[in-house]
Amino acid sequence: MKQQFITALEEHNLERVRQVPKGDLHNHITRGGNKRYITAWCGTEIPECPTFADLGEMNRWNARHIKPLLPGRTGYEKRIEAAFVQAKSDGVQLLHMSVTMGEEEWFGGSIAALIQTIQAVHRRIAPEIHFVPELAFLTHTPIQVTCDKLELYLEHNYFKSLDIFGDESAVPAFKKVFRMAKAKGLILKAHVGEFGTSGLVKQAVEELELDQVQHGIAAANSPAVMNWLADHRIQLNVCPTSNVLLSRVANYSSHPIRKLYDYGVKVTVNSDDMIIFDQSVSEEFVNLYRGGLFNAVELNTIRENALTDTNRK
Ligand SMILES: [Zn+2]
Repeated sequence: MKQQFITALEEHNLERVRQVPKGDLHNHITRGGNKRYITAWCGTEIPECPTFADLGEMNRWNARHIKPLLPGRTGYEKRIEAAFVQAKSDGVQLLHMSVTMGEEEWFGGSIAALIQTIQAVHRRIAPEIHFVPELAFLTHTPIQVTCDKLELYLEHNYFKSLDIFGDESAVPAFKKVFRMAKAKGLILKAHVGEFGTSGLVKQAVEELELDQVQHGIAAANSPAVMNWLADHRIQLNVCPTSNVLLSRVANYSSHPIRKLYDYGVKVTVNSDDMIIFDQSVSEEFVNLYRGGLFNAVELNTIRENALTDTNRK
């Protein structure tokens, strides 16, 4: 597979890149599908997204162009289906996708019904994919409310990973929630270092005892933090197109993933929000290769980083 992937990149052959097994470890389940699939279902074109100044702009664009196309429980189930279809078509073999706490509301508040739906779609669309169900929550939810909800979710023994996103500066405070998930053996992740600082990345990893960081690219501003992440084998699940389209990085050629890699930080390449940014994991690899940021051998190392046992549960 290694040689097949290297040759495919050197030949700029996206179809062959797709055929090689890959991981996608930073993917939000309601946003993992592609625009064509949704359009074929509802008949409405989804435009290409612009470059956003921040998450607020992105959320407003999403509310205008995508949310109205996928209403209610039917729309939610179609999003999940689209996400598995997309991962399968892109050769994703190991897939972490996050459900955000609160999405059980589409199922009358039943966490069991939500889980059964995801399991059924996974079995129907892509049973060959090693799927790691991830639970995510927003920083604006009070800590005790999150703990109580997490307890209800963990009773099902379904979710194998935990993630938090929202206001990055609030992330380190959620220690209690992460300790509950750690006791159950979940993979621990947080969205930090996308908008925040390198110091915040280190603080969040230490306070929450994280295994992995979603984005974490701000770490590239500090050699000390990069060395620390490398020493502690903390994995950064990077999403290059998301960073470009959210104005965190000017282009692929100047993306800090190169610097992180050079400092020995374990990095992976992922899709984040395919339904908005419209770049699959395979396309991300081709973009980084074309941008001249890595050679094909290095990109294969990054591909293999995602497929290690530490990412399987
Ligand atoms: Zn994300």
